[in-house]
Formats: sequence, structure tokens, C-alpha cells
Amino acid sequence: MHTVKLNGHDIPVGKIVCIGRNYAEHIKELGNKPPDKPVIFMKPANAILASGGTVVIPPYSSDCHHEIELAVLIGKKTKDISAAQADAHVAGYAVALDLTLRDVQNTQKEKGLPWEIAKAFDTSCPLSAFVIKDQVTDPQNLQLKLTVNGAVRQNGNTGDMMLPIAELIAAVSTYFTLEEGDILLTGTPSGVGRICSGDHLEASIEQVGTLSVTVA
Ligand code: MG
Repeated sequence: MHTVKLNGHDIPVGKIVCIGRNYAEHIKELGNKPPDKPVIFMKPANAILASGGTVVIPPYSSDCHHEIELAVLIGKKTKDISAAQADAHVAGYAVALDLTLRDVQNTQKEKGLPWEIAKAFDTSCPLSAFVIKDQVTDPQNLQLKLTVNGAVRQNGNTGDMMLPIAELIAAVSTYFTLEEGDILLTGTPSGVGRICSGDHLEASIEQVGTLSVTVA
């Protein structure tokens, strides 16, 4: 069983539901079109890598990208909820990386195939500890910053999400039952780029925390 820390307590993790294309500038940098519905995919719980860990890029890729994202921990089981009801189901927030094998993803996209082999590999989800939601004043106004070897690569704000967290939770809940211990990754701002062996990544979100990992 994989667990995450919430305010010092171990919480068993269910599924990790990820949102793609939720920041306009990131959509532009990859040459994608804005989606008419949220782009949704998943990572398994065993993709989680705790802060301080080592990312292992699979040998079938030579272009692994960093994507800093705000992670939301679900605290209560639900299905088919409205955006107005969503916040009552949030337990906390963390810093996540949605590591993506961009070369593999592009091939899968061209062929119309699923993205999992590009998105859900072991260590593809570095994750900080969660803070309880009451410690965060406004989750839709948080600076996200990612550095690689000390150089700033991503510097965005959760206020630039195209669909806010409440609407993402509502949308996801139309497809899947959400349960305590499920995690939602809310998309990445612009500035994604390649990481290489030996790189040191530091990701931070104000009021939420910091995450650091090294690439093997
Ligand atoms: Mg992402």
C-alpha cells in the first residue's frame, strides 16, 4: 500500500487522476489546441516518488520533461458532484511533478494510442507531503516555481488555470467515483523542458511546500 503524509499522518493512496492542458501558455508551447472538455489520464499509486528520491528515466525515452503541478488530496468519497460541492471533498494540497516522456507521448498521440507508457512509469510522480487545506488561503492564487540545477524553468500561478480545481473535481467525478486518498493533479503552467541524468529539481508552491528530487 502506498501512502502520503497529510499533516504528519499516513494516508493510503488510491488513484492519481491527472489533468492535461489546463494552462493556456502551456497549451501554446506544445502546439496543442485548448480542449473543449478536461483532458484526463491517470498514474498508478506506485508512480509516487517521495521528496528526496531519485527519478529513473526509462530506457525507452530520451526526452523526459518536468511539469510542476498543484496536487489535491481527496478526503471524502463522492460521485457526480457539482463544482459548488467540490471543496467539501478536498483534504489538502501538495507539490507534484507530472514527469512525462515527451518523445513517447508524441508517438502515442500520433498513433491515437493511450499515454500511460509516457506518463505512468515508476517514479513519474514525485510528490511532497500534503498540508491540510485550511493552511492554504486561496488555492487559485499560488505561485508555482520549478528550478533545475538552480535555474528557474517554470514560474506560474494557479490563478491561470483554465478550469479551476472545483470544476476539475466536478468533471472528474462524472467519470469516476472519487475516494478518500485519491489525488488530483491540476495541470502545469508553461516552461516545461527536458531533464537529464544528474539534474537536481526543486519544485515549490507557496503555502504548500517544496519538493526536491535528483535524476539518476
Ligand atoms: Mg501534466
